[in-house]
This record gives sequence, C-alpha cells and structure tokens, in this order.
Amino acid sequence: MKRTIIAACAAVLAFAAASSAPVAQTPAHDIKYVQAGRLLADPSNGRVLTEQTVVVVDGKVSEIRPGYVGGADGEVIDLHDSFVLPGLIDSHVHLLDELRPENRFDDVTMSEADFAINGARFALVTLKAGFTTVQDLGAGDGGDAILAIRDGINTGKIPGPRILAAGSTITPTGGHADVHGYRDDILHVMARTSACNGPDDCRRATREQISRGVDVIKITATGGVLSNTAAGLAQQMTDEEMAAIVETAHRMGRRVFAHAHGLDGINAALRAGVDGIEHGSFLDATSIKLFREHHAWLVPTLLAGDFVMREGQAGRLLPAQAQKAMIAGPLMIDATRRAHEGGVMIAFGTDTGVSAHGDNAQEFALLVRAGFTPLQAIQAATTMGAQHLNLDTVIGRLNPGFAGDLIAVKGDPLTDVRQLEHVSFVMKGGAVYKR
Ligand SMILES: [Zn+2]
Repeated sequence: MKRTIIAACAAVLAFAAASSAPVAQTPAHDIKYVQAGRLLADPSNGRVLTEQTVVVVDGKVSEIRPGYVGGADGEVIDLHDSFVLPGLIDSHVHLLDELRPENRFDDVTMSEADFAINGARFALVTLKAGFTTVQDLGAGDGGDAILAIRDGINTGKIPGPRILAAGSTITPTGGHADVHGYRDDILHVMARTSACNGPDDCRRATREQISRGVDVIKITATGGVLSNTAAGLAQQMTDEEMAAIVETAHRMGRRVFAHAHGLDGINAALRAGVDGIEHGSFLDATSIKLFREHHAWLVPTLLAGDFVMREGQAGRLLPAQAQKAMIAGPLMIDATRRAHEGGVMIAFGTDTGVSAHGDNAQEFALLVRAGFTPLQAIQAATTMGAQHLNLDTVIGRLNPGFAGDLIAVKGDPLTDVRQLEHVSFVMKGGAVYKR
C-alpha cells in the first residue's frame, strides 16, 4: 500500500515536472506564397510562365508551383497583375556618397559616422529600387562605415541590399583614388593608407584592406574622370604593382577589380590577372582577346559615362573633370557593344554614387543601346551578375534553395526594359521592403 502511494506520488510529481517544463515546439516557419501573373524565375533560360506561385520559406525559395496556391500557414502575396523576376544585382556602386558640388569638402567636414548615416539611407533607397545585392567598389579611406553597413544589414539591424565591399580603393600616390588639389598640409592630413608605391608597398596596402575584412579588392589601374587632376585616363599603376596586388589578393581568397579607362591600363591589368575591369572605355580587339583568355569580366558602367557627360555639358564638373568626361563618356557605349559582340562576360554595374542612388536601373536602357536584348541586360543584372560576384549558387535566379530575393514590375521588361526603372514590389531574403 505504502509503495503504491509512493509510486502514485512519483507519477504525480513526474507529471507536474513534465507539465511545468517548457513544451518542445517545432519552430514556426515564415512562409510566403508569392502569386505571380508572369514569372521569369531563371533569366538564363528566358522562360516566362504565367500564373505561378513562388513559395518562400524562411527566406529561401522552397518551390515554384503552377497556378495560384496559398495556405493558412503563410502569407499570400497577390502579384497577379505583375511581372516577377529575381532581385537585381549592381556590381559597382559607392553607397556612402553621391556626386554634388560640395563633395570636395566632404573629406574634411564629414566624420565616418556622417558617412555611415548617408550610406544607410542610400542602402535603403537602393533596395527599394529593386537591387537586392550590390558590390561597393570604394568607400573613402580608412573608415569602416561601409563594413558596418554591410554587417548591420546582414544581422538585420538596418534594411538594405546584400553588400560585397572593397573598403578603400588601392591607388598609386597621386593616382585616381588619391586626394588632389588641396594645399600641402591638408594633403598630409588626408594622406591615404590605401595609396601605395612599388610592388612591396602595394602588397602592404592589399593586406591591410583584407585585414579590415573587405570582400574584394579594388584598384585604379588608370586615371579616372572624377579625380580633380589633369592626369589623363592612361595607365597609372605599374605592371609590377598590379601583379603584386593580384598575387597577394588571390593568395588570401580575394578577387581584384580594376578601374581602367585607357587601353594600356586595361590590357596591363588583364595581363596582371585581375578578375574584372570597371569602365573599359578605350578597350580594343587585343583587350577582347585578353578578357577571354583570362576569363575576366567587364562592368561597363554606362550610366556613369552618360551622367558625367551631361554634368560636364551643364557646367557642374570641375574643369579637370569635365575635360576627361568629354573624352571617356562618348566611348563607353561603343566599347561595350564591341566587347559584347566579342564574347566578353559582362555584368551590370552603374558606378552609382556618381549618378543618384535609386536610379541604378537606368543602366538597362543604355545596355540595350549598346546592343543587348532586354533579356541579356536582365541576365547581366541577375544570373551573370551572380556569377560575377561568385554568388551564383545563392542569388540571381529563383530556383529552390536560392535566396528569396524577388521584385515585380507592372509592365513587361522583356519588351520595354525601362519598366525596371519602376519596381513596384521588393522582397529580400523573404522579407518585403516595398509593396
Ligand atoms: Zn566607381
């Protein structure tokens, strides 16, 4: 009897213990049923299907089902009147800044915190324009605002696109990404740690960027339009410096993208083994051969060329800038056409920060002017863009397992690519940022 009571008590105690213990629950899944009137899930095949549902579970595409399906376990998003495609990728932006007459004073008046606030705002503008991934190719010197923004977005503290960041651009002293045109003592205050001279010093500069946690390395192989110096657009970094940077970066798992306008600098950078050329204004048949031999990418940034020409004509650039803008700008569409016809791999990039943030999609119409079909222009900003950033198993198409990054427009971007300038819906990682 006594034993029975003890056993009963034990059972009651066990029950009490069990019921007060936290109940094991299967975590709730975040499910979204995106019902698309028209769907271009994989721009590489160009197939547009009608009345499809993209099922996004916990931020990733889980499946695509024919017809409009939904369930009580998730949210139904009605895009029956829209054209849905993967989130766009801009492989060349500068998120911390935007070209304006006062830029010249920013480096001596703005703190890194000011730049971070600018960048956070521009990141959101970019995301709402449909760009769910960007590569930031150069964000001032020494400051870590761009890295903080990248990490803040990844950890969900602030909204913005997925960012790959180059940190500070590596430049020869007096080269395109250095500071120019101030009196001596100001120049000393502003001296850039990412400026380097000679192969050893350029190895040091490359390693310093990598130790800061950058994703890629950006170099200036040639002069550039917007540096305030009449130093032209030809090669500035030596062959030996570029080879040292490429070797150092590749040994440490970082790819190298070279700003290059002049033909000598484009070809020297390709021979040094860079992974891609930005701008490429003066490229020729030899360059096209080198691009293909080295499996290097071209990011034409036609919008930057178009924009600086217009700014120069309107008298809003400094004299040294305007002169170079009038030389490089008119060449870029034709260079891109020849590279495209020559089979060079081309990724979409705008150099936004030169033009206004949020206007990135204006590049599509310029690519079409350079001979791309609208589908090819979309591929440059999706499947090709993803391949260019080494993210082609994560983004760029809406296959199962890929990120739930998708956008919608009302019209058909395959007949009028400028529809992409008016994105009506943005989802990144399963979260909706615009509807
Ligand atoms: Zn740039």
